[in-house]
Amino acid sequence: AAHGRLDEAEVRRLDRAHVFHSWSAQATIDPMPVAGAEGSWFWDHSGRRYLDFSSQLVNVNIGYQHPKLVAAIQEQAGRLLTVSPAFAEESRSRAAAMIAERAPGALNKVFFTNGGAEAVENAVRMARLHTGRHKVMAAYRSYHGATAGAIALTGDPRRWASEPGAAGVVRYWGPYLYRSAFHATTEQEECERALQHLRDLVMVEGAQTIAAILLESVVGTNGILVPPDGYLAGVRQICDEFGIVMVADEVMAGFGRCGEWFAVDHWDVEPDLITFAKGVNSGYVPLGGVLISDEIAATFDHRPFPGGLTYSGHPLACASAVASIEVFEEEGILAHARHLGDDVIGPGLRELAQRHSSVGEVRGLGVFWAVELVRDRTTREPLVPYNATGADAAPMNAVVGACKERGLWPFAHFNRIHVVPPCTTSDEEVRHGLAILDEALLVADEQAAS
Ligand code: PLP
Repeated sequence: AAHGRLDEAEVRRLDRAHVFHSWSAQATIDPMPVAGAEGSWFWDHSGRRYLDFSSQLVNVNIGYQHPKLVAAIQEQAGRLLTVSPAFAEESRSRAAAMIAERAPGALNKVFFTNGGAEAVENAVRMARLHTGRHKVMAAYRSYHGATAGAIALTGDPRRWASEPGAAGVVRYWGPYLYRSAFHATTEQEECERALQHLRDLVMVEGAQTIAAILLESVVGTNGILVPPDGYLAGVRQICDEFGIVMVADEVMAGFGRCGEWFAVDHWDVEPDLITFAKGVNSGYVPLGGVLISDEIAATFDHRPFPGGLTYSGHPLACASAVASIEVFEEEGILAHARHLGDDVIGPGLRELAQRHSSVGEVRGLGVFWAVELVRDRTTREPLVPYNATGADAAPMNAVVGACKERGLWPFAHFNRIHVVPPCTTSDEEVRHGLAILDEALLVADEQAAS
């Protein structure tokens, strides 16, 4: 059976014996074998289907097995599978040009990586060399990846085990009105106070020591925190005033997730560097990168950039990115993503919030939404504590279980359910998923009341 297919039991057995899984206590997990997927659905070996409200790790933006991407990958595989980053190659050239064309203003060059963390590492490297400064300001409630530098910049519990991390990371609070670090009561107050806080930190840290301010344009895993209008422009202004590089991490928020090519487009703000991955090709082949402003690119015109990766600009990955961008345009995916947010998910979730006492807040845009669950709407006590594990996490596990039993695969993080299906999901499929979520939230209501 060397070339035969494995049955489900064998897949499971070999996985348990030999696959070491991310972020997990290996003896406590039982990963579900996935047999196939199409559109917004995936299924197990018995044919049990799940509507994917997670897009895996919020990356399958155009859905599974899009025939045009499959064909583009097959075509590239038949033509040229690999060539080192030192060469120019057709798909690499096209992908870089197409990404740069869709990026804001002066971001015209792309450094390709294999994923998001490497993009963050290299963006920070560029910012430090460009400014000749060392410190990087990074937000609490953020995720930037799991390599040494990216995890040190991360502002969530995943960094704790890697501490003390890196020197020169200065942490700040971003805007999050529902749990304001600034005692603000309106979006405008939150915006003004968050910017004043950042400005104060720049002053006391010494502006001349700060290379970059790093932020997720819309915070992803840590809660879909949509910045108030004016916040990103305010950060841009602080960066301009003090010669600090503005790095927007759009690994999760970019490529359709927020209904735009880049989330910053929603507020018309132009960062100096943008990191991307995930939605650029829906993860069909690993790909990420850094979009670089002309000014920063020029720093490396006559001085070598001291960074590289064997697979930077991998032809197979770049061919899939080209096809994916074409699909976005042919199928009007950005407009559909905005429509889903404005007309289906947003109104649908607001309705759920009215019916379920456990829903503290719903927020988001495009196909990027969070439902924040609480024990008590007045005190806003989260349904499970920050970083809940084990027995503490039971109320959320019950909600997740209720979704899965009904054929919906949710994305859960701490006390939140994120609604992040592929951007290509139909209105009807989204309504079907929201109806299941409606039933599952009854479990949350009971947990909250108990
Ligand atoms: N940055 C953000 C905003 C992310 O959401 C992620 C992954 O979830 C990363 C960086 C890291 O990307 P990767 O897992 O591809 O290294």
